[in-house]
Amino acid sequence: MFGRKSTEKNDPHAEGGFQDRLAQWRRHIHTHPELSYEEERTTDFIAGELEKMGLKPRRFDLGTGLWCDVPAAKGATAKDVVALRADIDALPMDEESGLDFASRTEGVAHTCGHDAHTAMLLGAAELLVADPPPRPVRLIFQPAEETMPGGAKECVEEGVVKGVDRILALHCDPHRRVGEVGVTAGPITSSNAKVRIRLESDGGHTARPHETQDTVFSTAELATGLTAVLDRRLDPRSGTVLTWGALHAGGDAPNVIPDHAELLGTLRSADRDVWATAEDLVREAVGDLTAPYGIRAELEYTQGVPPVVNDADCADLATEAVRRVLGEDGVGTADQSSGGEDFAWYTEEIPGVYLRYGVWDGTSEETDLHHPGFMLDESALEPGARLFDAFARLDRGSGED
Ligand SMILES: [Zn+2]
Ligand SMILES: [Zn+2]
Repeated sequence: MFGRKSTEKNDPHAEGGFQDRLAQWRRHIHTHPELSYEEERTTDFIAGELEKMGLKPRRFDLGTGLWCDVPAAKGATAKDVVALRADIDALPMDEESGLDFASRTEGVAHTCGHDAHTAMLLGAAELLVADPPPRPVRLIFQPAEETMPGGAKECVEEGVVKGVDRILALHCDPHRRVGEVGVTAGPITSSNAKVRIRLESDGGHTARPHETQDTVFSTAELATGLTAVLDRRLDPRSGTVLTWGALHAGGDAPNVIPDHAELLGTLRSADRDVWATAEDLVREAVGDLTAPYGIRAELEYTQGVPPVVNDADCADLATEAVRRVLGEDGVGTADQSSGGEDFAWYTEEIPGVYLRYGVWDGTSEETDLHHPGFMLDESALEPGARLFDAFARLDRGSGED
């Protein structure tokens, strides 16, 4: 079976060809994974391959990652520009795949499939160079997807999607068979923000709470009260959830009111407007819930990515591209996930679509992203490259509704 062991008999990679090159690219990157913002060798490798194709890649100012334009065919009249994006970073964990091309760097592994994304986009570059597209195409090999708020934010700030009309990305989905792609208009991932509240008081004896400010009581009040305020003030359909991950107050003494306490949690939402406005509501509620007790409260709200919201027209185009590459059976749907994805920084700027791309071989035990045993079937690489290529060639309006 593809993607398991390169040493198996009848390995299709034994013969040269497009699929063979895709697998070689993927395996090279897989063997040499690099963490977010440290993708030096990966960037050099991608640049080298693009240069061999006659392209002129440019590194991002932030140090790693690159982008590169494929010119339109001579005489092409389409004025719009399409961007295709792959992420290139690996995760800080060990791999337990048993593959003979497994990571050779301890504590770093491509367990989110970004090696495959990169190989597929390199494949698309080759297809686009061999048969120039009807419009200019920008290829974005983006660093640091696995960080908060994500390398995409800096790439956008550097202007990588300035003048670009629409953008496509896909992500490996190990719970979906090769040959099936989830395409859905509207929100597809969720936002994530970190919430940290620190409470301070003069501290004192539990016999005399009226002479100080009760940190433990106020912490409990906030833990349940803030969650309740969000439940009442936000549309329940927004899929917003505040969950506490840590609550620290006091030591072991039953008769001491501690002078400080802390709550830590995450606020996730499926709704873009809630992502944009929730901080004000949280700040107001923290103030209102602590004021009656005279306690000093400090809120630290770290904004994360917004949800990726797939543009309806781009989703139609992507559906048509899937149909052309994989047939009608290839078109699936995708539920919104509660995870975050920094592709959202592009879709904040321009219309775009993010696809869930099937990489499960259909028979092996299913594995998961960010799992040491994560597996993907390499027969997914070629249709992925062709899907990028097909999307770039479609004219706006050629998708079906
Ligand atoms: Zn990941
Ligand atoms: Zn990923």
